[in-house]
Amino acid sequence: MGLERMSQKAFKLVKQGRVVKMDNDRYEVVGDHGIYTVARNNAGKLHCTCQGFQTRGRCSHVVAVMIYEAERRRRRKKDVEEKWWNMGEF
Ligand SMILES: [Zn+2]
Repeated sequence: MGLERMSQKAFKLVKQGRVVKMDNDRYEVVGDHGIYTVARNNAGKLHCTCQGFQTRGRCSHVVAVMIYEAERRRRRKKDVEEKWWNMGEF
C-alpha cells in the first residue's frame, strides 16, 4: 500500500470514528479485517498489532492514531500529512 493510499484510508478511519482511545498510550482501531491495538512505546513511537505493521513497519492504523491525536489538539490536517510525509524513517 502506498503512502498516499494509506493516508486516505487513515483519514477515513478517523472520520468514521473507528479510532478509540483506551488510555494515554493505547488505542483501538477498527480496521477492515479486525480490531487492532496501537500503542506508544517508551521511545514515544507508535506500533500496531496488525500483520501489515509486523511485516512493513507501517500501517494505516498508526497513521489514523496520529491524525486522531492531531485533531484532538485542533491542528490542521495538513500539518499531520506534512509530518507524516516528512518522517523519513521508512
Ligand atoms: Zn496496523
